[in-house]
Amino acid sequence: MLDTRAVYRFERICESAFPKALTRDAPMAELQALAARIWAERKMEGELYVRANTGTSHDGKKISYCETGRVKEGYAYADIVLARHERSPYVLLHEMAHALGHHQHGPSFVHCYIELLVEYGGMDRATLVDMMLAGGVRL
Ligand SMILES: [Zn+2]
Repeated sequence: MLDTRAVYRFERICESAFPKALTRDAPMAELQALAARIWAERKMEGELYVRANTGTSHDGKKISYCETGRVKEGYAYADIVLARHERSPYVLLHEMAHALGHHQHGPSFVHCYIELLVEYGGMDRATLVDMMLAGGVRL
């Protein structure tokens, strides 16, 4: 997964460049409220869950993830699990880009992630694009 590696590399590079407000540990209630706000403002249908749990394994680490699906002929859902040490606003925004329908880490995901970082993280779009290109992210 070249895109995945590039996005994770971008995040490692940028963690130090992100404002502290985005990288700090945040209470789950705050992250859940932010997620619910984005979900409502994007007029998404179905259920959104944001939970603290163990996460999934990736390169020997436990990381956050988002699973989306549909309950048998019923409502759609997105289930975000935030791993320990990853309960910060920027990780939530990453997972929200998946929840909003961008499943891989390709260009459509990256554009959505940028939108969220600009709109809800107060980041500058041009700066983000520069950092992503420097990190080898495909736009
Ligand atoms: Zn991801």
